Amino acid sequence: MYPEVLQHIQGSWAPGSDSHRRAVLNPATGEPLGEYVCVSKADLDRALAASLEGFRIWSRVSAFERCKIMRRAAGLLRERASEFAAILTLELGKPPAEAAIEVQSSADIVEWFAEEGRRAYGQVIPARADLVQQVLTREPVGPVAAFTPWNFPINQPARKISAALAAGCSVILKPAEETPATAMELVRIFLEAGVPPTVIGFVVGEPSTISEHLISSPIIRKISFTGSTAIGRRLSALAGEHLKRTTMELGGHAPAIVWDDADTPAAVRVLAAAKFRNAGQVCISPTRFLVHDSVFDAFSTAFVAFAKGLDVGPDAHAGGQMGPLAHARRLEAVDALVQDAVARGADLACGGRRIGNRGFFYAPTVLRDVPMEARIMNEEAFGPVAVLNRTRDVPAVIEEANRLDYGLAAYAFTGSAKLAATFGREIEAGMISINHSGLALPELHFGGVKSSGHGSEGGSEALEAYFNLKLVTTLAD
Ligand code: NAD
Repeated sequence: MYPEVLQHIQGSWAPGSDSHRRAVLNPATGEPLGEYVCVSKADLDRALAASLEGFRIWSRVSAFERCKIMRRAAGLLRERASEFAAILTLELGKPPAEAAIEVQSSADIVEWFAEEGRRAYGQVIPARADLVQQVLTREPVGPVAAFTPWNFPINQPARKISAALAAGCSVILKPAEETPATAMELVRIFLEAGVPPTVIGFVVGEPSTISEHLISSPIIRKISFTGSTAIGRRLSALAGEHLKRTTMELGGHAPAIVWDDADTPAAVRVLAAAKFRNAGQVCISPTRFLVHDSVFDAFSTAFVAFAKGLDVGPDAHAGGQMGPLAHARRLEAVDALVQDAVARGADLACGGRRIGNRGFFYAPTVLRDVPMEARIMNEEAFGPVAVLNRTRDVPAVIEEANRLDYGLAAYAFTGSAKLAATFGREIEAGMISINHSGLALPELHFGGVKSSGHGSEGGSEALEAYFNLKLVTTLAD
């Protein structure tokens, strides 16, 4: 059932020509699903040459035609959603229902960017002199190198490929080493829909070799990366050396404020579901819960009951609500953060242990009254762990929300319009969701500030990153 993972270079699918191979593991069992031959530097050079040729072709296709092809791709994706979801579940362990949502929402993303590409308007600017016409246009920036993580194996490639294609760019995609097949099948869909073969390259192998080679190449004009802040820094520095444009969607440590005037049951329902989605391996996952003292016990009791009631199951487990962590490294990293917090005096309300010894399952975990010096208060957990702390003062809660250098998502629940406005204004984050969970729709801005990165992966802002501006001023005399 797991497809053979190949590279897509110069319009053909073939194994890489490097001497290294990599295995893909099923995180629900820890057993291999398949193996692929890594891409070599010589392969990357061929992919770069193809990408330049692809750019020349695709940038001359009208926005109207590009839209039609991309909409066809979205339709094919919807038709084959169950096949995609099955592969996604195999390589990431995401429960089938959650995988199906990710596939359907990826089709929405492709469709939305397809449409938005037709609205990349320019401007005619009134001139100072008679017979002068000043026209500002948007032109595709050039071949793009896109690097996507394992936590959303189709959503992330869909965002980056769609934005590039909609703007008229060619793109070379490097998916996560752990989850290459879902992304590979998405590339196949775009090609089947009519994207010319040299327009999309697909390369997988040793990540630093690939990113260093692609970013340094004069052919690549734009870099889009989603992943950890540490790697984002490295890639930004390299891109800076070569004066390349970047979109960086990096880590987060989202504060979630629950005030005494909030609808507490709704806050539990929304925030607990958001916390344990994808086993907490989500950059916008609510992590530091800052709960008003007067509702802390009610919130905490209901939250722990939700966590304990989750059906944590293997990949094929039909009713599973939470799957395993993506790989063994995450299991170790998450457990180390939890044990450190407990050793420093945090109250472990539930979880705090691996489940079984097969696969990478970790119990939904709730820590209460966690001291500030605990590592988890300062480092991204990226796992199914909620930290519940008490608060009672608005300036103090805002200070705590803004304390870290992360600034991706933030959440707040309050019945007061005034407080909602205060949180919306004062919290340093790229996205703030108040009284509901409303982030990550294709038409909405998606991106962070501070060490959570820059640029946007959603909304019309996302397309801007793929355009150069060009001014043509003409004296028609
Ligand atoms: P990791 O840093 O080893 O890998 C994360 C991702 O970055 C992988 O997909 C990998 O392919 C890619 N990567 C690693 N080195 C690279 C390089 N030199 N060039 C290009 N890509 C490279 O971390 P991990 O243990 O797999 O994941 C844990 C951390 O990753 C989390 O703490 C989180 O901060 C981050 N992460 C963030 C997101 C996000 O949505 N922002 C998604 C996944 C992982």
